[in-house]
Amino acid sequence: MNQKASHLLPKIFIFDLDNTLSESKHPIDEEMASLLKDLMRKTKVAVISGVRFEKILAQLIKPLKDEQFFDRLYIFPSTGGAFFQYKKGKFGSKWEVVYERLLSVPYREKILSAFSTAIEQSGFVQPEKVYGSQFDVRENQITFAALGIDAPVDEKNLWDADFSKRKKLIKVLQKLLPDFCIVFSGSTSIDVTPKDVEKSFAINQIEKILGIEPSQMVFVGDGLMEGGNDYSVIKTGVKTVSVADPKDTKLFIRTVLNEV
Ligand SMILES: [Mg+2]
Repeated sequence: MNQKASHLLPKIFIFDLDNTLSESKHPIDEEMASLLKDLMRKTKVAVISGVRFEKILAQLIKPLKDEQFFDRLYIFPSTGGAFFQYKKGKFGSKWEVVYERLLSVPYREKILSAFSTAIEQSGFVQPEKVYGSQFDVRENQITFAALGIDAPVDEKNLWDADFSKRKKLIKVLQKLLPDFCIVFSGSTSIDVTPKDVEKSFAINQIEKILGIEPSQMVFVGDGLMEGGNDYSVIKTGVKTVSVADPKDTKLFIRTVLNEV
């Protein structure tokens, strides 16, 4: 890396996971793993995703394989509701929780009942075939996956490409749940989190915990459009790169690696 180019490199690249690093709910492929490792040879990498840690472990960390990179990798599951860091301890290194914000049980019940009401009132038409459960209920986030959490990618990509089906639901949900953050996620899902937990919250935590200024961060995601689950990042003032899919992200990483 020459000196001039290293000046262009941010202190951290922050990536969304689904449809940015990997196909929705799928592991990253080998090519992406190798590009991310090349990037981590130069700078830090964080991943902020709506899914919980176990899913990120399967979708991102396991396919990366090499532990030697993990101390440069920062994991924010549940849309920034939690932060995991790889820490060296007496008995070896492991992923540890730095913080975690939870949704209380009555809140979780309130959100689920709002979904039933919204499905009834919004004119939303339930899909003919649903693959597995439509709800992923976690301690810090509830996700409604319209086609079910096990739906095949091809079918998901076709189902609501213009967001119109989910928009109907979100309109009603926003009235019923004014204290929650409700966003599109992936190609068929809606995520509900406490209002102050959105991706911008994770950006603020990166600044606070890792001591990196927003001007030294670059965020890459497929959901930066208004209403998208990466949109909240824009208000933090970090540089953003909008991508269409993992192919697009690979192109971006390659460009960065060629420049530094
Ligand atoms: Mg995404």
